[in-house]
Amino acid sequence: MARFFKRAPSKEGAGNDTPSTPAEQAEARQATARRLERIKPDPDQIGISGAVPFVRLPAPETLFRDRAARFRALAPEHPLGGYLLFLAAIAEAQAAVQAESPGSEAGAPVSEADLALRAEHGMPALSRSVLSDESGFPACLDALLDKVDLSGAPEAARQTLAALKAAPAEDRLDLALQVFEGAFPVERMAECVFVAGALQVHLAGLAARLTPKALKPVADGVCPACGGAPTASLIVSWTPADKARYLSCSLCGTLWNHVRIRCTACGSGEDISYYGLDELSKDVQVEACGTCHSYLKHLHQHRDPALDPIADDVASYGLDLKIVEDGFRKAGLNLLFVT
Ligand SMILES: [Zn+2]
Ligand SMILES: [Zn+2]
Repeated sequence: MARFFKRAPSKEGAGNDTPSTPAEQAEARQATARRLERIKPDPDQIGISGAVPFVRLPAPETLFRDRAARFRALAPEHPLGGYLLFLAAIAEAQAAVQAESPGSEAGAPVSEADLALRAEHGMPALSRSVLSDESGFPACLDALLDKVDLSGAPEAARQTLAALKAAPAEDRLDLALQVFEGAFPVERMAECVFVAGALQVHLAGLAARLTPKALKPVADGVCPACGGAPTASLIVSWTPADKARYLSCSLCGTLWNHVRIRCTACGSGEDISYYGLDELSKDVQVEACGTCHSYLKHLHQHRDPALDPIADDVASYGLDLKIVEDGFRKAGLNLLFVT
């Protein structure tokens, strides 16, 4: 039977529906600016100076707990409130699984020699071998499926969970490997959310034990720790140089530094615009690239520390709908909300 996949944007490249002539490009820009609020570059969008750390590794002990709280805070009176609460239940299960097997006493997941070799060849630190039968990942996935409380969720979600629990272990592992590599079987999208939830816990635990200095840039829009695609970019305030930009990994939660006002999909900085929506916080925007017509969520976490790349990406779905209408294609990936 033919199988259809959605692919992670970073592994597929950006859209190819770019207007072909300068006049068409100008018209497309004006049309977008009429539909959305175009945000003029301001001092916050000008580049920064000074050295910043290349990566910030995830802190799994707070990552999932804080995300669950953010989902719950965003849900009331939100058009996607039911889904936000479903994802809060997933994040709470992630936090519970993480708390039971924090892994902090375990050693480095990759030897120094392997790490240096992989960096030398432009490869991320973690490979698919970290999901092997012996890796602890299958137990992590089983624990997540046991702990997730779907009592308030739709019947369809409970049926999906039951189907995944009843599936052979090797089938669940096969699905996880596909998601890890950025391929989502269309007929199993609902199951992918649970599998992705376990991948995030397992990979955040491994990434947290890497040596930050050993991680090297892999490619634009590719996580140096696990090879995942970014969900969003964050403007942060915790670096020595204020307002640096970091991309947030959809899989392991590692943050890595990326030059500001430069497209994460094609690397161009020539035609970058920022858009927001009146009904959304000014701290949640998209960075849109007129060169390849891709966009990425852009969160001003330095102004609102509660912003979470995954939760706020889902909650700002109205912004995706508008920018997609104008021919832009999402360059970010949210494993809990693959649309
Ligand atoms: Zn990663
Ligand atoms: Zn681009």
